[in-house]
Amino acid sequence: MLNIERLLIIMELTLQDVLQRNYFLSPSPSQFTEISIPVPPTPGISGLPARCYFDISTKFNAIQKQEIIYTLGATLFNWSFHCTQKWSGGSNTGVSQLASCTNIYATKNLKPTWYRGTPITNGRKATEVAMDQFTQMIKDNGFRRSPPARIFYSIPAPITTSYILGTTAFNQVNVPLSFVINPRELDNLSGTAFPLIGSMFHAWLHRAGFSDPKTTSYFISECTMCVMRGFQPKTSVPDSYFYRFFD
Ligand SMILES: [Zn+2]
Repeated sequence: MLNIERLLIIMELTLQDVLQRNYFLSPSPSQFTEISIPVPPTPGISGLPARCYFDISTKFNAIQKQEIIYTLGATLFNWSFHCTQKWSGGSNTGVSQLASCTNIYATKNLKPTWYRGTPITNGRKATEVAMDQFTQMIKDNGFRRSPPARIFYSIPAPITTSYILGTTAFNQVNVPLSFVINPRELDNLSGTAFPLIGSMFHAWLHRAGFSDPKTTSYFISECTMCVMRGFQPKTSVPDSYFYRFFD
């Protein structure tokens, strides 16, 4: 079954990237309301905004909205925790637990779309590039340089095929932090924090320019799985248990 409304939302996200402004395709545009999330003060990162801003569809109910705020906060926490460990009291040469865990497992698609620097040859460097790009996206959002971030409400068919979708961005600056979220899975996964946190973190990595496939060895999956495992080594739980929550 072709879901036209969902298709239009995804086209709208693409146009937001291309035109760097908001553009309504839907015949009846969703209504949005602004929420803001505090940006954790982070050592070694200067010029951070106090908050990030998201226009969230008014179709989400209060509980779903709370889940979204929680997962956005968790993403910012993981970014801040990495930066703090890397800053390492002032040297900025620390290896964060996120970088160290990802370095073990990520070997493929280490480079974001927009990257033109020296080759990225390991998961540690890829993590550092990704988290620096999160810093850029947070600043562009918080100082309102990027188009307003939109959080769309969309129930795919079948409903279990999507959690939190972010499209792969190809710009380094002014990237809107827009996502499409499946409210049914917010309900199903409510209270089981790590799948939604992983799904949101994976979506942010797409906005940072990293691409799928969402399978073992690929940076976008391994880095996210490290977050979901609390930076611990892999166990007998198969990777597919984690990456099924990624869009
Ligand atoms: Zn993905």
